Amino acid sequence: MGISRILIANRGEIALRIHRAAHEMGIETVAVHSTADADAMHVRLADHAVCIGPPPAADSYLNIAAIISAAEISQADAVHPGYGFLSENAKFAEIVEAHGLKWIGPKPEHIRTMGDKVEAKRTAGALGLPLVPGSDGAISDPAEAAKVAQEIGYPVIIKAASGGGGRGMKVCETEDQLGPLMQAAGNEAKSAFGDATVYLEKYLGNPRHIEFQVFGDGEGNAIHLGERDCSLQRRHQKVLEEAPSPVISDEDRTRMGETCSKAMADMGYRGAGTIEFLWEDGAFYFIEMNTRLQVEHPVTEMITGVDLVREQIRIADGKPLSVTQDDLQFKGHAIECRINAEDPFTFAPSPGLVTAYHAAGGMHVRVDSGLYAGYRIPPYYDSMIAKLIVYGRNREGCIMRLRRALEEMVVDGVKTSIPLHQELLRQDDVLSGDYSIKWLEEWLKERAG
Ligand code: ADP
Repeated sequence: MGISRILIANRGEIALRIHRAAHEMGIETVAVHSTADADAMHVRLADHAVCIGPPPAADSYLNIAAIISAAEISQADAVHPGYGFLSENAKFAEIVEAHGLKWIGPKPEHIRTMGDKVEAKRTAGALGLPLVPGSDGAISDPAEAAKVAQEIGYPVIIKAASGGGGRGMKVCETEDQLGPLMQAAGNEAKSAFGDATVYLEKYLGNPRHIEFQVFGDGEGNAIHLGERDCSLQRRHQKVLEEAPSPVISDEDRTRMGETCSKAMADMGYRGAGTIEFLWEDGAFYFIEMNTRLQVEHPVTEMITGVDLVREQIRIADGKPLSVTQDDLQFKGHAIECRINAEDPFTFAPSPGLVTAYHAAGGMHVRVDSGLYAGYRIPPYYDSMIAKLIVYGRNREGCIMRLRRALEEMVVDGVKTSIPLHQELLRQDDVLSGDYSIKWLEEWLKERAG
């Protein structure tokens, strides 16, 4: 029997996104929520809803026992984890499967391998993906680290094996800083992730962040859906994403895309995944793989016409992918703006009551959001409240439409990052696509004077 009722172990816009794909497939949904989210849109839209705990995520959206119980009492037959929360928790995936539920995600062993960045890098190298030069695995001895750094050249970056969300990374310029910074990175990683393991790699001066969307059926077949450029970042967090990248040629897309899909096929990868690279002077360097759906997946959907959540559900249900590599065509351009409830330029969080809300509309405009007038944005979770995704036949048209759509968006009562996006879309470097991962922070610094 196929999947007929999906428990969505998440909240906010991504819970809605999953609900929508499910309902378009004739599948029922179960929302889980904390007491702070009783009035949330994902709870209102779902067919069934179960309260799983108090506001702190550790007691609700990360509470495995409560989520499994919710699945049992609601008679769900599958679990979709969305992104964040438990989505890359291999143990959760195993527990879901052990309870006879279908896990709408990759095989637990692959989540585990890619979740450890040292393991991930080793695996990626063995699968033929190009790596950032660095230590061969974990490194703990400063003297040994100094030797590696000498070889690859300063600056180097010290990264936590279990890092994520841009945390646990330290850039080191000189040999005398190496010992203290390794110590600091290890301590930070230990307190954030419970694991002090660090490794070393070359710090690239001015790269772009380019990632490939991949999909596997778990049986040795895999495809790629092209790249996304996520170079506009602040504190290693993506702010605006686009597809295709303004700097990747069709030949490079085909070549790297095929390298990625072959790696996934060889691995027997199942479901959606994203292989992240830094790109500098025409060369790709693998940094990590995310074994889940990404926030920015809609830009890929816009230029391929493929519903990625639908494909995830199909694969979890034992069905083949609905598209082949040959079917796929990349058409036009798409950009996503992440809209956060925060001051647009100081980034101070701004939760609270949304007094008025109007979503942009019109041709090729998509708003993924759980907002409504009268909704109170809780202070407990991520500040992202909406994603505005716009398509155009080319990059220029896409930007014009995006500006128009941003003008239409109304979110009153709280501060949002809409003014930041409006200003960004008037900068020459953004208009010409000439930006690296450093650009946004430098621009913000200059703007602040
Ligand atoms: P996380 O899992 O914490 O997001 P990543 O390995 O994906 O960590 O790196 C996040 C960001 O940090 C990258 O998008 C890039 O901006 C920066 N970064 C990571 N590795 C390097 C490197 N070797 N050189 C320069 N910048 C890097």
